[in-house]
Amino acid sequence: MTWEPVIGLEIHVHLKTRTKMFCRCPVAYFEPPNTQTCPVCLAFPGSLPVPNRKAVEWTVLLGLGLGCEIAEHAVFHRKNYFYPDNPKGYQISQYDEPLCVNGRVPVPGADGDMEVGIVRAHLEEDAAKTVHVGGAEGRIHGSESSLVDFNRAGTPLVEIVTAPDLRSSEDAKRFLQLLRQTVVELGISDAEMEKGSLRFDVNVSVREAGEAALRTRTELKNMNSFNFAAKGIEREIKRQIGIYEAGGEVEQETLHFDPGNESAPPLRSKEEAQDYRYFPEPDLVPLEPQREMVERLRRELREPPWARIRRLEAEVGFTLAEGLVTGGRDELYSRTPGEREAVANVLMNELAAAGVDPAAVNGEELGKVIERRAEIPRAAFDEALAASGSGGFSAERYLAETAIADVGELDPVIDRILSENEQQVEAYRGGKDGLLGFFVGQVMKETGGKANPQVVNERLREKLNA
Ligand SMILES: [Zn+2]
Repeated sequence: MTWEPVIGLEIHVHLKTRTKMFCRCPVAYFEPPNTQTCPVCLAFPGSLPVPNRKAVEWTVLLGLGLGCEIAEHAVFHRKNYFYPDNPKGYQISQYDEPLCVNGRVPVPGADGDMEVGIVRAHLEEDAAKTVHVGGAEGRIHGSESSLVDFNRAGTPLVEIVTAPDLRSSEDAKRFLQLLRQTVVELGISDAEMEKGSLRFDVNVSVREAGEAALRTRTELKNMNSFNFAAKGIEREIKRQIGIYEAGGEVEQETLHFDPGNESAPPLRSKEEAQDYRYFPEPDLVPLEPQREMVERLRRELREPPWARIRRLEAEVGFTLAEGLVTGGRDELYSRTPGEREAVANVLMNELAAAGVDPAAVNGEELGKVIERRAEIPRAAFDEALAASGSGGFSAERYLAETAIADVGELDPVIDRILSENEQQVEAYRGGKDGLLGFFVGQVMKETGGKANPQVVNERLREKLNA
C-alpha cells in the first residue's frame, strides 16, 4: 500500500516593532524579567488596548508578499482560555475576519514548482513567558516552581496558516526556509528561531495514495528548528502508517517532539475552536486598511525569494541557487564578479564557514581573489576571505603572494612523500583512488599550504600512474 503524507503548517512570527501590539512598552528580548510592562500588558482592570499601526502595516505587507488578498474589513476577537501566562484570561487575536486570506507561495524544487496555499495570515498578541525552574531543560516536568515573565506579553505576532499542501518533510523544510527569508527581507522580523521570534506547529496526517478526504491529523507543537521539524515529521508519518497498517486509528492529539530521544509524548488532546468561545473584542474597532496604504505597500515589494531561485538556477544549478537565496547570500553573489559557479561555491562554503556577514563584503575585491584562487597559497586565500568583510579590504595584498607552481621546487617534496609512504602508494596503485587526497594533503602540509593544489594534483597523478 502506498501512503501519502499530508502536511500543513502554522507559523508564528514576532514583528520587530519598537513597541508592543496594544501598549507602548518596548519589545525587548534580553531585559531583566518583568521590567518591560505596563497596566495594559499586565491586564489591570480598566486598562484599554490601542493597536500598533506599524504592526498592522507590516501584517498587510507580509500578506501581500505571500500573495494574499487584504481584507477591507478585519476584526480582532477574544480567544478565551485560562493560563498563568495569560493574565487577561483571553488573547486578542483574529478569528473569522483576519487581515490576510487566500495567498499562494510557489515553492521551487529540483523538478518543478509546487504551490502552497496560504489560508490566512492574522495579527495577534503573544502571551507572557512561563519559566519552569529546577527541572531538566526548563521543562515543566520535574520542575520545582514556575515563574512568569511579562516582558513578552503583548508582543505583536503574525500567525500564518498554510493549506495542507505539503507532501514531504523536505518540502515542508524548503517552504519554511523560503518563508523565513521572505519575512527577513521584508524587514518586519528578524525571525530568529533561537530567540523564539519564529516558531511553528506542524500538522501531519497520512492517507492512501489517491484518497481524496483528509484523515485525522496530529500536531507537533512549538518547533524552532527546521531540521528537528523535518525529523519530527518523518517520525510522525512512520508512526501513523504503522497504526493504520496494524488496523488501528490515529487519534487527534498534540505532540511535543523531543529531538534528544526521538520521541513525541502527547501533550493534550487538541482543543476545538468552540472551546475558545471567540467573540469580537469590544474594546477595539474593526480594522479597515486604506486602499492607498495597501497599494503603497505593494509597490515596496521586491522580487520574492522563489523567483530569484529560478533566475539563479540557470546560472549555477538548483541546489546552489536555493542555498544562495535561502541563506541570504544572493545579493553578495550578484555583486561579486567571476565565474558564476566558482563564486557561488565560495560564498556557500568557505565564506559561510568563515562566518563573515555577506552584507559587509566588498564583492569586487572578493571576486579578484576567487578568480586567482589557484595561484595563491591556501592560507592566503583563507585569510583573504576572513578579511573580506572588514572595511578597506583589498585583494592586492593577498594576490601578491603566489603559490609554488614551480615543478622543480615541488618535485623533490613529492618524491620524498611518496618514498616515505610506500604502503599508501601500493594501495593507490591497487585501486584506492581516494588516497590521492592524502598525498595532496601531505604536500600541502610540507609546503606550509603554499603549493598550487592544481599543479600538485597533476604531478602526483603523473608519478603515481608512472
Ligand atoms: Zn505594556
